[in-house]
Amino acid sequence: MSKTMLKRIAELEKVAHQLELSPQQRENTLQVIHRFASDFIDHLPEALVYSSSMPPEEVFKIEEKEKSIEKIKDIYARHVARHGINPASGGHLGYIPGGGVYAAAIADYLADVTNEYAGMFYSSPGATFIEQQCLSWIKDLFGFPESSTGNLCSGGSIANLIALTTARDKHQIKNERIHSSVIYLSEHVHHCVQKALRIIGLEDIIIRYIPLDDHHRMSAEILAIQIAKDKAHGFNPFCVIASAGTTDTGAIDPLKKIGKIANDNDLWYHIDGAYGGFFILVERLKPLFEGIELADSLCVDPHKGLFLPYGLGAVIIKDREAVYHSHHYRANYMQDAYLSGIPDNAADVSPELSKHFRGLRMWLPLQLHGIAPFRANLEEKILLTHYMRERLVDLGYDTGPEPDLSVSYFWWPYKNEDDNAFNKKLMEFIHQDGRVYFSSTVIDGRFVIRIAIVAFRTRKETIDKAIKVIEEAKEKTIDYFS
Ligand SMILES: *Cc1c(COP(=O)(O)O)cnc(C)c1O
Repeated sequence: MSKTMLKRIAELEKVAHQLELSPQQRENTLQVIHRFASDFIDHLPEALVYSSSMPPEEVFKIEEKEKSIEKIKDIYARHVARHGINPASGGHLGYIPGGGVYAAAIADYLADVTNEYAGMFYSSPGATFIEQQCLSWIKDLFGFPESSTGNLCSGGSIANLIALTTARDKHQIKNERIHSSVIYLSEHVHHCVQKALRIIGLEDIIIRYIPLDDHHRMSAEILAIQIAKDKAHGFNPFCVIASAGTTDTGAIDPLKKIGKIANDNDLWYHIDGAYGGFFILVERLKPLFEGIELADSLCVDPHKGLFLPYGLGAVIIKDREAVYHSHHYRANYMQDAYLSGIPDNAADVSPELSKHFRGLRMWLPLQLHGIAPFRANLEEKILLTHYMRERLVDLGYDTGPEPDLSVSYFWWPYKNEDDNAFNKKLMEFIHQDGRVYFSSTVIDGRFVIRIAIVAFRTRKETIDKAIKVIEEAKEKTIDYFS
């Protein structure tokens, strides 16, 4: 053992130890962050929901020298939390808003401090049990058997990816069969499905877009006819994907009818419920979800329907063996972790190995609040959607068809041929205002402004404010065009 080496170790230790904050430093750090967080939440009702201003990138530059937590908090407060869309605000009524219930942040804090390794049961039996309980709760909610498996992943995109990978392998869609295999989608399926197909090597698969009915739901009748046609032509119908709540219009496809067709034709039946799934918690909406239990795989997004912060999606899949076949791997350096008779390791049913214990941010809020406030929030959002549509109609706006859930759309009927230009400008003025945020889409060639009421902080007064903002923006738009 050389003296210089020991000396160097002692030197390094001094600097290395700085990563361990003292009790006093921990206290101070938390204080600074806690004060900012509380202030941020308290001021949400009057804070802007959208700002197109850009922070200067250089303020984020990582330098050799350390900064104080106050300084870091200031950078965050000034340059992160004030630009773009404010997703914590109830005034976020665009895209599919997230949530950000506070209890989930506390869960993340806990999970990060103890740094549970949630990828393997062996490493953290408690974390695995908690994630399994979250999945069991979801299975139960949607009538999936307990023998199903599942995974808590980062979001709906990865949830869909896991399901489609499993479907591909179960149906042996290998190279030579890709060109003759067919997958059936609605035109309103979320784009992460097409993305997933490309990622898993199915770019060249045949995609049939099944037309929609007047309520933007996939036509089960046309689906059945198309499958029969494809079979007659020697193709290999392999998978159908329905949506339990489309992103554009909140429509729920006829899940039961599609399930029967999938079953009769031996197709893998996947349902994307990333946005809409958790509305099943609302008693009177349950009938809409009839048939969801027929799916082979289902994706839901707790970071949408359960109002959690971004970074939590879930997939449940009935055929556990098939999921294993596609995702598990046994490496020598992991040999201590392979136990038998244990719950599924997250690492065996997903592309991840080392895994953030994200299940805690679902489990802790559900435990802390119970289910009732989640249910109430979801039902409230449905009613607020109806309320907003009624107010818009009273004011002379046109709206899309009665939505199944809490996504809808509207436009101002200007002078028919100029509708699109007018509504585009109207959208611009609403964005400029920033007190609420809406996004737009194109439905049947028409530029429309979407309503998406999913944020847990959206209340009736938020909608009243939104109506005011829309009306003011409309007056400006009329001026602009006259
Ligand atoms: C949001 C959404 C997705 C994608 O989920 P992410 O969590 O954003 O990855 C997929 N499908 C639907 C219907 C969605 O609304």
